Amino acid sequence: MAATFTVELNEVKTLTPNVKHFCFRRVDNTTLPFIPGQFVSIHFPHEPKEIRRSYSIATIPTQTDDIEFAASYVAGGFASERLFALKPGDQVAMSGPYGRLILREEEAPKRLWLIATGTGVTPYRAMLPMLAEKLQNTSLQVILLLGVQYRQDGLYLDEFLAFANQHANFLFRVYYSRDDLISQKAYEYKGYVQLAFTDLNPIKGEDIVYLCGNPHMIDEAYAWLKDEKQFEAQDVRREKYVS
Ligand SMILES: Cc1cc2nc3c(=O)[nH]c(=O)nc-3n(C[C@H](O)[C@H](O)[C@H](O)COP(=O)(O)OP(=O)(O)OC[C@H]3O[C@@H](n4cnc5c(N)ncnc54)[C@H](O)[C@@H]3O)c2cc1C
Repeated sequence: MAATFTVELNEVKTLTPNVKHFCFRRVDNTTLPFIPGQFVSIHFPHEPKEIRRSYSIATIPTQTDDIEFAASYVAGGFASERLFALKPGDQVAMSGPYGRLILREEEAPKRLWLIATGTGVTPYRAMLPMLAEKLQNTSLQVILLLGVQYRQDGLYLDEFLAFANQHANFLFRVYYSRDDLISQKAYEYKGYVQLAFTDLNPIKGEDIVYLCGNPHMIDEAYAWLKDEKQFEAQDVRREKYVS
């Protein structure tokens, strides 16, 4: 297991009515080495045994040494109630980094699909500098799809839209499962994020798909890719957000 260290809350920003962005600093003033796509665990004291919850690292490594993540508030949730009550200066125990939802240097797919629901988009935020490098290869297309319920739930949209403006081979869409979408913008779509599959047509042997966030979305998307498009486990990387 990775080492445990103490972090101090530096800043909290409200991203959506239900999601906050937390910025922590290690009290030993060292930087956490991590690969974009990985996550950390927070260890909450609890008898007879501490309780841990995991959060994908949202930090853009070229911008800050803080350990940042975005957390959705689950009413009555063990970690949610404690995290959302933290004030700058408060300390918690953290361990990591963990996880294998990372970009692979050696792979050269035609299209890289990065699909998320809600805070599941944070690993892809952390990947932006690496994606910028990869996108210099103009025969690669990166497709980033974010699914949320309502317009108010979109997170980091300005950053992804700015990135899309800078890179012609980066496609960014947001899917809203419950919004009426009056005066729809070019990047906005109605329905579940998986709808993009029928439209953009993933191809086995050419495309690699990353799925992060809601376990139902991940199971449905993976089942469709397997059954309809003959994708295999090695073509699809999954990170399910479960407690
Ligand atoms: C690898 C990994 C990475 C993760 N990264 C993130 C992240 O970046 N951001 C983030 O917000 N969460 C993330 N999660 C989920 C997170 O670890 C917690 O599960 C979540 O914060 C809820 O914990 P809790 O203790 O507040 O709720 P709990 O006390 O564990 O749950 C209370 C109840 O709410 C349900 N529940 C749990 N999670 C949700 C949810 N998201 N929405 C609705 N109901 C829920 C549970 O089934 C349970 O019935 C990640 C999980 C994993 C495994």
